[in-house]
Amino acid sequence: MNKWVYSFGEGKAEGRADMKNLLGGKGANLAEMSNLGLPVPPGFTITTEVCTYFYDNGKSYPGELDGQVREALETIERIVGMRFGDPENPLLVSVRSGARASMPGMMDTVLNLGLNDVTVQGLARRSGDPRFAYDSYRRFIQMFGNVVLGVDHHHFEEVLEQVKRDRGFDLDTELKAADWQVVITGYKEVVEKELGKPFPQEPAEQLWGAIGAVFGSWMNQRAITYRRLHDIPAAWGTAVNVQAMVFGNMGDDCATGVAFTRNPSTGENRFYGEYLINAQGEDVVAGIRTPQHLTIAGKEENGSTLPAMEESMPEVYQQLAAVRERLETHYRDMQDIEFTVQQGKLYMLQTRTGKRTAAAALKIAVDMAQEGLIDQKTGVLRVEPKSLDQLLHPTLDPKARKQIIAKGLPASPGAASGKVVFSADEAERLSELGEAVILCRIETSPEDIHGMHAARGILTTRGGMTSHAAVVARGMGRACVAGAGELRIDYKTGVMSVRDVQIRVGDTVTIDGSTGEVMLGEVPTIQPELTGDFATLMGWADTYRRMKVRTNAETPLDSRTARKFGAEGIGLCRTEHMFFDAERIVAVREMILADSEGGRRAALAKIAPMQRNDFVELFKIMKGLPVTIRLLDPPLHEFLPNSEEEMREVAEGAGTDLAKVQHRAVQLHEANPMLGHRGCRLGISYPEIYEMQARSIFEAAVEVFKETGETVIPEIMIPLVGTKKELDILKAVIDRVGAEVMQSSGRKIDYLVGTMIELPRAALQAAKIAETAQFFSFGTNDLTQTTFGISRDDAGAFLPDYQRAGILEHDPFVTLDTEGVGELVSIAAERGRKTRADIKLGICGEHGGDPSSIYFCEKVGLDYVSCSPYRVPIARLAAAQAAILGEQAASEA
Ligand code: ADP
Ligand code: MG
Ligand code: MG
Repeated sequence: MNKWVYSFGEGKAEGRADMKNLLGGKGANLAEMSNLGLPVPPGFTITTEVCTYFYDNGKSYPGELDGQVREALETIERIVGMRFGDPENPLLVSVRSGARASMPGMMDTVLNLGLNDVTVQGLARRSGDPRFAYDSYRRFIQMFGNVVLGVDHHHFEEVLEQVKRDRGFDLDTELKAADWQVVITGYKEVVEKELGKPFPQEPAEQLWGAIGAVFGSWMNQRAITYRRLHDIPAAWGTAVNVQAMVFGNMGDDCATGVAFTRNPSTGENRFYGEYLINAQGEDVVAGIRTPQHLTIAGKEENGSTLPAMEESMPEVYQQLAAVRERLETHYRDMQDIEFTVQQGKLYMLQTRTGKRTAAAALKIAVDMAQEGLIDQKTGVLRVEPKSLDQLLHPTLDPKARKQIIAKGLPASPGAASGKVVFSADEAERLSELGEAVILCRIETSPEDIHGMHAARGILTTRGGMTSHAAVVARGMGRACVAGAGELRIDYKTGVMSVRDVQIRVGDTVTIDGSTGEVMLGEVPTIQPELTGDFATLMGWADTYRRMKVRTNAETPLDSRTARKFGAEGIGLCRTEHMFFDAERIVAVREMILADSEGGRRAALAKIAPMQRNDFVELFKIMKGLPVTIRLLDPPLHEFLPNSEEEMREVAEGAGTDLAKVQHRAVQLHEANPMLGHRGCRLGISYPEIYEMQARSIFEAAVEVFKETGETVIPEIMIPLVGTKKELDILKAVIDRVGAEVMQSSGRKIDYLVGTMIELPRAALQAAKIAETAQFFSFGTNDLTQTTFGISRDDAGAFLPDYQRAGILEHDPFVTLDTEGVGELVSIAAERGRKTRADIKLGICGEHGGDPSSIYFCEKVGLDYVSCSPYRVPIARLAAAQAAILGEQAASEA
């Protein structure tokens, strides 16, 4: 017999934390907390395998399920001493979804299930609190009506508003038992009117309806979108948790709340959370009432006047603080918890690893390692490399003038400027057009996720630090200011206003998610300081890292930035970028348009001194670290003059006439320039170009030695090689020039000559090419292009279709296609090493800064990765993680 149901409660459980695949995250952790002896209301989990079965079998359940559910329900009844559907002493349950990976807000929970017109009276009598009983019943009808029966929220809201208006009430808390009974009658009418049948009274029917709704919601649009954005396979399925209700809405000794065991924004080791007295479920995050802080410190920090739990319920607070301790020492990570207090007694309803900002992730990893909770390697593995991006990007310039118009909560750090939009769709539309946007909403909901993703920043006027906007923004690394209550947003007119300021759609604002400030216009930003926890963790990463990390840079600014971020040399200096400079472009054009070697040499002579200075500057910045310089690569027509004006300029410079220049420009036109006269093919046709570049490099090396005493070992790289012969010819040119410079300067220069591997033929011929090449650098942008036969510049038109159709999981220009392109890389590395055991191997495509591609590079055993300056820290951390994971995998095998 298959086991489809796992019970928990009374200090034990059939499941465990490591059974997330089967029980979902929520179910596995409820089981784990029960096993730890924490106060968890009893319940059971229907496994994710039932979800899979459900979708594989035309939305039906396995035959044994009904009996197993009944048995598990009886176990709950025995523990709590109540019966499901009992008119006098009814057991009520919650029905909750829970997938393997936490999907916040993706699937809705139904509370108070088991109430009907009869049991509600029993509940009223037993509790001696009719108001509580009817409040619970109306919540149940509303949740069940919405989640299970699909009746829109606003129908229920209208009924409640009407009753409040009739009675002259502002707050829900003013309604008495009799008022709630009127609301309930209204709610039931709504359901009957919308569905043509009455609200289900039979508890078993309610239970199966809710279970079916949870499984059904796995395939709703919100869930599908979330899974797409977070790479969660649909095949995983969700579990369903059924759990005895505890009540936070039974009076003033009751409460419900959420907390993080450490501050999720800063990582500070302080208990951090919010609660509401006499409330239920998600009231805390719904933004209807203003939540109160757990701790006095939290209350003071946020300028709240409402009492902290530490003051209002000191005993419960102590229980909760003890649970916090227990959970952290057990899970050894920051936890995000949900709890309810019923008549002075604490109940734990959820724990999971808490989402956090990058800054918090760093601080928590470093602190926990120093507290001895985890070791340094674990600390290094705890920080998501890509998330470092949040820390490397600019913050507001403290000297800049700011026109602050409102202040909200600092919900997710970072500063962002952009055009104001009021809908998620608009945010997505404008950002696709390349605009930076700030999504401004009264509050956000799961339907807004695509817009939050597209926006640079998110601003809400309602909700706390644990509101949907705040949680999701922190997860995505978007700047977010939440609950900026002074601002009023009117969706209809498209205006956001505060006092006399009116902001319309399309106006620019800046938000600072670290301070909560909202500013008019665009505020200048500055670079972050990379000290403190960042430096500590990166230091640890560097000790575990095997691969070196270099940068792709050609300008002094980029090179300096990369050095600051810890680059250990330049892996790709693209010399053509140096040619676009306004001062030189005319001479470059003369060179290209010259129709004789003499003409080319004359133009090259003008460029040479400038080119030499470029290298002098780079070598000085890199202070003896390796610098790989790629000789001219792109198709020449990229430099061609476009206007007649520009052509005339070139003609004058070269001393020829306009017609000749125009004729030559036409000659240079190519049908397929990416596969045309470019890369080493230029060097073969016009060796004088590479000659000039090589000479500049050697002379610069000599000059830098003379000036600074630093020995530079240049690595000269020939692009787009497909045959050994190409490399032989060009290496001979370089060696000849090298010998000449050494002769004339009287100084010996060590240098390497190598090639890019960016054509499949080169990868396959690597054994032969390595006879000449002293290093390989995998140019995986071109290698991807040439392996797939997909033009990078045109891929945008159809790659999304390929991803949607499931042909490609990722954009292969972003994440290395390890299957195809990766195989060529492995083959080339292996064959190259066979010929030349000490051949240096690196990667310089975009993939050099992509963590999952970096893991692959570690597996193949490359010596270094090279990436753009801002990705250097990401690559350092990813390379360390790759090394640690590789070592762990090896020791397990
Ligand atoms: P989510 O996955 O969206 O966090 P949950 O299943 O955790 O949804 O439910 C949301 C909230 O409902 C919980 O935080 C808790 O306040 C309330 N809740 C769930 N189950 C119970 C229960 N058995 N008793 C009381 N409250 C509950
Ligand atoms: Mg929720
Ligand atoms: Mg929850």
